[in-house]
Amino acid sequence: SSLVVAMDGPSGTGKSSVSRQLAQQLGARYLDTGAMYRIATLHVLRKGVDLGDPDAIADATAGLPWSIGTDPTREQVLLDGEDVAQEIRGDAVTKAVSAVSAVPAVRARLVDAQRRLTGEASRIVVEGRDIGTVVLPDADVKIFLTASAAARAQRRNAQNLAEGRGDDYAEVLADVERRDHLDSTRAVSPLRPADDSVLVDTSELGIDDVIGRLLLVVSE
Ligand code: C5P
Repeated sequence: SSLVVAMDGPSGTGKSSVSRQLAQQLGARYLDTGAMYRIATLHVLRKGVDLGDPDAIADATAGLPWSIGTDPTREQVLLDGEDVAQEIRGDAVTKAVSAVSAVPAVRARLVDAQRRLTGEASRIVVEGRDIGTVVLPDADVKIFLTASAAARAQRRNAQNLAEGRGDDYAEVLADVERRDHLDSTRAVSPLRPADDSVLVDTSELGIDDVIGRLLLVVSE
């Protein structure tokens, strides 16, 4: 039977790993909307667009030559036919993504694409910041993952270390807090839980505990 799960929350809550695994357990597709904003940001950076100029950002992302897969077992992110899965996780993109994702025209286009990709799947977990509030207000299940800033920075830092991107907890914590602030105070689609979402605090939970809880929520 069909099932649409909206999964929102700030970075470092384990949201991506949790969403991917939950999708696999549910026999569902998986859409990483953060990756879409990251692809748009990489494109903007490559074009040398001024990040302080929203109109220029909107123009540069008008005919974005990108594609994203929805297989939860395999990340597939292309820009101009090139696999950019690694590059979109790098520092340059991470630092610039809030500015790009705050531009209404960028959001409007990506939200359209997110709804279209969701419509193509009968069962899907869609992960982001505004899925339950804006993109899919009629989702069957809405989950909002939270965790303390310290727990989130620790996870990000461990992930950076594992992937060879250095070890600087203080800087990671500052970046987590800066991005939360930008994402939750922007004028369009700020990060916030939908009224009908289930809140899960992952600060003290391992991924298997989180998945166990979410499977219960979905089956209710
Ligand atoms: O989840 P991830 O860290 O990859 O998201 C990167 C950025 O993309 C977020 O910090 C936020 O600015 C933006 N984003 C968004 N709306 C979404 C998903 C991500 O604005 N639905």
